[in-house]
Amino acid sequence: MLLTDKFGRAITDLRISITDRCNYKCVYCRTGNEGAVYGELPFADYLRMARVLVSLGITKVRITGGEPLLRRGVIEFVRELSKLQPQGLKPQSSRNTNGTVKTVPFPNLTSAVPSDEPLDIAVTTNGHLLAEMAKPLKDAGLRRVTVSMDAVNPEIFSKITRVPGSFDQVLAGVRAARDAGLGPVKVNCVLMRGFNEDQIVPFGKFAREEGVIVRFIEFMPLEEDRVWTPAVVVTLDEILQRMAEYRPLVEIPHQHSETARRYRFDDGVGEIGIIAPVSHPFCGHCSRIRITSDGKIRTCLFSVWDHDLHELMRSGASDDELVRFIRDVVSKKEARHHIGEPDFVPASRTMVHIGG
Ligand code: SAM
Repeated sequence: MLLTDKFGRAITDLRISITDRCNYKCVYCRTGNEGAVYGELPFADYLRMARVLVSLGITKVRITGGEPLLRRGVIEFVRELSKLQPQGLKPQSSRNTNGTVKTVPFPNLTSAVPSDEPLDIAVTTNGHLLAEMAKPLKDAGLRRVTVSMDAVNPEIFSKITRVPGSFDQVLAGVRAARDAGLGPVKVNCVLMRGFNEDQIVPFGKFAREEGVIVRFIEFMPLEEDRVWTPAVVVTLDEILQRMAEYRPLVEIPHQHSETARRYRFDDGVGEIGIIAPVSHPFCGHCSRIRITSDGKIRTCLFSVWDHDLHELMRSGASDDELVRFIRDVVSKKEARHHIGEPDFVPASRTMVHIGG
């Protein structure tokens, strides 16, 4: 029996934060201060959690942080993860009255079949250390990489990351990942009014010239400095409008569970995506759970509590006990976030301490 929540959403996507340390201090994420807040576990502990979760139907694992490439041993961790064999999901289907097969949107995952597909392992990184690590990560079994890069103008980039002179290094990381075959490389850009909304069109050109998929992300209230207001969010509609003034876009039909709306330029060169959790929430299709660097399960970015899987492991729990705990936690997954609503309660951790 695979993992579903009480709304029938299949949980197939796991994010593991392996550290909440970061060498950047991006304005939409961190304060200007130093310092990790939460602990880090031995890789063997994350691996056990991943193994149990993969046996429950997780097919994608994204390694994140903090900055995951800061952690020594991450390449070996990828190698060990890549040995896990995902389960195939067997969607429930039934017959329409005319005899054709009808597949329900959220499969009732009562059974698993061995999958031919390897585990889909990805990393989200700020790219600072990627130039030297891309090839070894690929050789260890990494399939994909997402690089956070919030400007193509080096000065604006430094203003956002608060690390002077880092742009060239990140650009080299993006190119190294592409050349290592970790593609299509995705470049994530969080837009914040007053900082980088003038980078929309330059990023369109960048996607076309560099052969990467640029994805704009609406700024969410998950930052340490608590500066979020609706007025700072650059919305999907605005991004589309600005980009269309540069070149017409054609929407690419997207999969039910995909968070990004995808677009190609009219001449077929270059793809962009927009992740719009604020203006166009996609909670109804959410297939994710997260494990924090200190081994807590979070069922939503905006959870106001987390669930201590590591403590249970430390107490000597068997895999079966972990499975029961995980099922119980997942059953409590939140229906949706409440960003911008009067009853919004800030998440109990900010993004850097959750793992985005
Ligand atoms: N250090 C890595 C990186 O820079 O990609 C991984 C961790 S970072 C927290 C993961 C992602 O969260 C990044 O793509 C970042 O842009 C995004 N992020 C952080 N704070 C955010 C916020 N307040 N709203 C939207 N996205 C945010």
